[in-house]
Amino acid sequence: MLDDELRERARALYAGALVWDDHSGFDPDARVDLACLDRWRSAGVHYLSVNVGYDVVPWRKTLQTLAAFRAWIEQHPADYLLVRTAEDVPRARQTGRMAVSFDLEGMNALDGDLHMVSAYYALGVRQMLFAYNLNNAAGGGCHDGDAGLTDFGRAVIREMNRVGMLVDCSHSARRTTLQAMELSSAPVIFSHSCAHAVTPHGRNITDAQIRACAATGGVVGINGVGLFLGGNDRAPERFADHVLHVTDIAGPEHVGIALDYAFDTGGIAEVLGAHADYWPPQEYPGGAVEFIAPQALPEIVEILLRRGCSDAQVQGLLGGNFLRVAQQVWR
Ligand SMILES: [Zn+2]
Repeated sequence: MLDDELRERARALYAGALVWDDHSGFDPDARVDLACLDRWRSAGVHYLSVNVGYDVVPWRKTLQTLAAFRAWIEQHPADYLLVRTAEDVPRARQTGRMAVSFDLEGMNALDGDLHMVSAYYALGVRQMLFAYNLNNAAGGGCHDGDAGLTDFGRAVIREMNRVGMLVDCSHSARRTTLQAMELSSAPVIFSHSCAHAVTPHGRNITDAQIRACAATGGVVGINGVGLFLGGNDRAPERFADHVLHVTDIAGPEHVGIALDYAFDTGGIAEVLGAHADYWPPQEYPGGAVEFIAPQALPEIVEILLRRGCSDAQVQGLLGGNFLRVAQQVWR
């Protein structure tokens, strides 16, 4: 097929598909102006999970961020829709809006209290991971000793299954994730993780983790951060390498997109400096990190078509697969 023809086919496929980005990477801070969400909406994204907190920040700040972000979405009903059920996502798309829910990167946000799971769910949090890079009260982080789930972590999974919150294994230690996938009664995701077999970074996940995720019926969202894609390179070809690896070993129904797209919102350097232990220098060498922006998605589609993916595979990757899991898990 000629290049022009392929580009046209990719453009049409992208325009007709549901587009789901399972994790934003910008600073979770109540002072951030969510007008930035237009970067996704104008790129044709129909659903974005917005991060409202991670283990590094105190849980009170997470609640403030969640409150501020909820209020902003409520005040912009012509363009955005706060997700309650999975059906809100196609509904937002049909009405020209972008659906938004929230996610938590680490269970420090619970402050040791199981009841917080249901409270966060009621406030729009639809997925939560165990430990952000370092171990915590729930389990192991990916840049710490390979700790397993704690009793608290096990109790949180049962509570997440009960309320319908997605169990997310990104950022967590291998043993913790394998135990979590064994225990969960609902599909489990890696919201934003690349393949270790393609790029051996400590944040990336092994083939065993990818296969275990698929066995739960879950999805691995490929991360758009250059450090995890390899060589701090944001070339769409790199992203396609990770998509195709997960497709090869786990099947095309188990891969999705989570660009983790970040840009400077003002406060991030302060946080990084004060909590440097969360990002070991051998894994995060410093300097500017490259990100794939949502605007690059049509080019990624083109590359995947050129490399042999079917239209149905691309539609699953762009959003169909994550939508399926949300329909099964969210209540
Ligand atoms: Zn993350």
